[in-house]
Amino acid sequence: MSVLDTLPKVQLHCHLEGTVRPQTFRELAAKYGVELGERAVPGRTYAFATFREFLLLFAKVTETLRAPEDFARIAHDYVRDAAEQHVMYAEVFISPSVWTFFHRELDVRATVEAIRSALDEAGRPLGIEVALIADLTRNFGVERAEQSAREAIGLRELGVVGVGLGGDEANYPPELYERAFAIAREGGLHTVAHAGEAAGAESVRVAVETLGAERIGHGVRAIEDPAVVELLAQKRIPLEICPTSNRLTGAAPEHTDHPLAALDAAGCVVTIDADDPALFGTTLRDEFRLVAQQVGEVTAIRFARNAIDASFAPTERKAELHRTFASRNSVPAGRSQ
Ligand SMILES: [Zn+2]
Repeated sequence: MSVLDTLPKVQLHCHLEGTVRPQTFRELAAKYGVELGERAVPGRTYAFATFREFLLLFAKVTETLRAPEDFARIAHDYVRDAAEQHVMYAEVFISPSVWTFFHRELDVRATVEAIRSALDEAGRPLGIEVALIADLTRNFGVERAEQSAREAIGLRELGVVGVGLGGDEANYPPELYERAFAIAREGGLHTVAHAGEAAGAESVRVAVETLGAERIGHGVRAIEDPAVVELLAQKRIPLEICPTSNRLTGAAPEHTDHPLAALDAAGCVVTIDADDPALFGTTLRDEFRLVAQQVGEVTAIRFARNAIDASFAPTERKAELHRTFASRNSVPAGRSQ
């Protein structure tokens, strides 16, 4: 067992709908009569071959989430799973515009309230605090994203601290969402964006320069342009890197080393996460193990520490998270290799 396994962690890139356990997905699909179709591979509930198929799978899971109590159930499960992964603080994505795409009648506010109660109820005794980031989901177009940004502002008192931009990056480039991000920011929300996953380095540049994204989801394809890597390093924009996700979606091809080491060496702020752990068949612990195999344990621990500073927790809370982290880790706090 590695020290990494039990290290108290901060989780910054995990989609609530991507944490649904296969068993729960099957139960909800049966309850609501959702056809699992060709994705129901025997012995494997979650299967996909391309990024597009992955997005369809994500949509299929969301299709089975129809009522606030379904979301409360998965939020409860999320906290239990997070406890096993030694998560102490998390900022978890939710995708209200995907929910309402499938279920127009779903009350977003009541759903987020149900999620909030479940997270607090399950998290409090375990010492796990979970903030939420509302994903604007590019696929539904500019207007819907702007509407989603306005909705997210109204959910701040339920612990929504920011907006994100996931979905079909290749067909919906970041510049389309400049206004949506401005609306969110003016409403007091933080902003993050998936970029450099299904599109190249330019998408990362635009997410930083035009959208003003404070963190980049993945960003791995920034490696295709040294000037973009330099921009990330210079602006200290943290990258939320999810190695298994990147392999399975093709963002970081299997036949080469994952670019996280090169990005780190170039001075980028690397953090590690699991993205959609249930759908990708992974856990935060597995991701850290993979990373440690590539860059060594000490560097992986440094990445775990980076996530504390990269979070949107208030300064005093970050100091507290650092103290908890240090108390469970004997490696000195300075940058070390
Ligand atoms: Zn993601």
